[in-house]
Amino acid sequence: MTAPARKVAVLGATGSIGTSALDVIARHPEALRASVLAAGGRVDALLALCERHRPEHAVIADERGFAALRDGLRERGLSTQAHCGDQALVELVGSDACDTVVAAIVGAAGLTSTLAAARAGKRLLLANKESLVLAGELLMDAAAQAGACIVPIDSEHNAIFQCLPDAHAHAGLKRILLTASGGPFRGRTRSDLTDVTPEQAVAHPKWSMGPKISVDSATLMNKGLEVIEAHHLFGVGGERIQVLVHPQSLVHSLVEFVDGSTLAQLGLPDMRTALAVGFAWPQRIDSGVAGLDLLAHGRLDFERPDLDAFPCLRLAFEALAAGGTAPAVLNAANEVAVSAFLQRRIGFLAIPALVEDTLAALPSQPASSLASLRDADQRARRHAEQAIVQRA
Ligand code: NAD
Ligand code: MG
Repeated sequence: MTAPARKVAVLGATGSIGTSALDVIARHPEALRASVLAAGGRVDALLALCERHRPEHAVIADERGFAALRDGLRERGLSTQAHCGDQALVELVGSDACDTVVAAIVGAAGLTSTLAAARAGKRLLLANKESLVLAGELLMDAAAQAGACIVPIDSEHNAIFQCLPDAHAHAGLKRILLTASGGPFRGRTRSDLTDVTPEQAVAHPKWSMGPKISVDSATLMNKGLEVIEAHHLFGVGGERIQVLVHPQSLVHSLVEFVDGSTLAQLGLPDMRTALAVGFAWPQRIDSGVAGLDLLAHGRLDFERPDLDAFPCLRLAFEALAAGGTAPAVLNAANEVAVSAFLQRRIGFLAIPALVEDTLAALPSQPASSLASLRDADQRARRHAEQAIVQRA
């Protein structure tokens, strides 16, 4: 007898990861079904996805979009139920409307629904790295208590996950080598970065991604967030995580064991591989991604990151070492700064400056509860916003 299809909730369905997830789901109609689709504000894009994937539920975050979603579903003759807001999303994620959740909302806005999936013991394909940076311990504890299986959907962490299949492997783990493409500005000095534009920053050489993570890749904050993410997912301290710039983006990360072995996972830079691992693990299914032709690529290079040109990576290591509320402050200040940069309110170098300034203004405090982390997040947002206004 074949297993029933996995009922998948895709949160952030209209985004880059959401699109890749739906592509993999559509390749396996017997095994995977999109049962809940959720998006932030683009009602038309969500309606088009509902027409294509016929989910039971569609959720729009922005309440102003609810009527358009409900009416659009009706006009299209779809039986999909319309919902709006975070609370509806949390209820659906925790209900039997789904057994698998792709957490691909961008930013701290994804925390509530990601946490709900962990608490409900769902298989959690976790792309929303900001929720781990903000509340990693709480999220990992919730998943462990409820028996939720977290499969990381960040190419690096998915690589490490594949290299560390069980607890025996963890026991002999010496360190993690996290690869970074270096982003669009690799090789530039700090002074070369003064006038770079949002268009240049989002033009990633290897990956096609949403605007926020693309800017994070350009500042190397993305790698900084990933260091904190790796700490929570795999239980290693920052001193056991090394970042290697690897411009070809074919080696997605490596793990070194105490016996001198180093394992790596390689593949083309396409998130559908990680998503297919997440849906099928421990089995393997077709993702639509071709295998790697190493002869065609020829070489694999590795370099040390330039922390002078890209101080965000250093700030993230420091926030991880400080612990408590510091990673939440780092993340929130960065979200505000990236959004201001994309709106051309500040320059590129102001992003690390604002994050550093906010971390200095709000020294780390112990953070044992979600409320204290959310409070730190809100205070950091206010501080960064004020600093932007004062700069103008
Ligand atoms: P994106 O900007 O392309 O998509 C974001 C999605 O989130 C959209 O569907 C948007 O409608 C939705 N959204 C935004 N705010 C929301 C809210 N308040 N409530 C509900 N939905 C909301 O972003 P992306 O590149 O797909 O990245 C999504 C997440 O995955 C991020 O956390 C990112 O760091 C992580 N990630 C992405 C990639 C990638 O290749 N794109 C790789 C690794 C990790
Ligand atoms: Mg990554």
